[in-house]
Amino acid sequence: MRVYEKRLDIEQDVAAIRKQNKSIGFVPTMGALHKGHLGLVQKAIDENDVVIVSIFVNPTQFNNSEDLVNYPRTLESDVQLISSISTEILIFAPSSDEVYDGETKSIKYNFNGLELEMEGKFRPGHFDGVGTVLKHLFTITSPTRAYFGEKDFQQLQIVKKLVSIEKMSVKIIGCPIYREESGLALSSRNKRLNQQQLEAAPLIYRVLTQVNHDFGTKSVDTLYRWVKDQFTNTDILKLEYFEIAKVSDLKSITRKQKNTKYRAFIAVFAGEVRLIDNIALN
Ligand code: AMP
Repeated sequence: MRVYEKRLDIEQDVAAIRKQNKSIGFVPTMGALHKGHLGLVQKAIDENDVVIVSIFVNPTQFNNSEDLVNYPRTLESDVQLISSISTEILIFAPSSDEVYDGETKSIKYNFNGLELEMEGKFRPGHFDGVGTVLKHLFTITSPTRAYFGEKDFQQLQIVKKLVSIEKMSVKIIGCPIYREESGLALSSRNKRLNQQQLEAAPLIYRVLTQVNHDFGTKSVDTLYRWVKDQFTNTDILKLEYFEIAKVSDLKSITRKQKNTKYRAFIAVFAGEVRLIDNIALN
């Protein structure tokens, strides 16, 4: 198992792999890995000759400095977890200076308005940071395919836009959301939940499941009010936003139309820990 810290080292090996006409699957992560990440890694293994996983807590995508400081960093156990599925994977775990070449700042992107909805409203600058780090990481790892979870569905749509803006040839592949048995979406941030919060958090997915069930029969307005009510009954979880939005442009809707794909999106605070989730509406 090779862990690269230096950009030049991995770039050299990537060039050699490319020369042999081998495909590269890339899974960018911020570490504190769980089964959701491993699902992406497994798909990358199945579809490519070589797999690179990056582990980098990207400072430019954090609008909240406390969140950045408290983000779990567990490189040693991450490496172990990855080696439990394959020891052939290349791990890129760089410092900020390696990624940003000493200038840790974001490029300002226009993702056609995708960046202004939901997460973009509550985390200003977040998607500029995501776009910037991925531009750098894609340049370094030169992937054939890159794998992203639908857990961060808005991010997935924005990354597809990013590669068209930057004219990069990487194919972006979306992967389903991995959940605990309770329905709680797996997340590195779950490690920061206390027992009481862990017990309360499955409400998030129960609410989304019920919305999916009722989407055909109840009005959008009724659903918004119902979701809000579910969170007024608990002090442990605080609803930040709930939106039903079109998949195409992520704009929220007031009423449903035919032949249009929708998803419900939610962000909730459990104490200081911010949890997001979403569901396809059928
Ligand atoms: P992160 O380390 O949180 O930045 O996530 C790295 C990648 O893993 C992103 O593409 C996420 O969408 C994906 N991911 C995180 N949690 C899950 C999950 N529960 N199910 C599927 N993908 C996930």
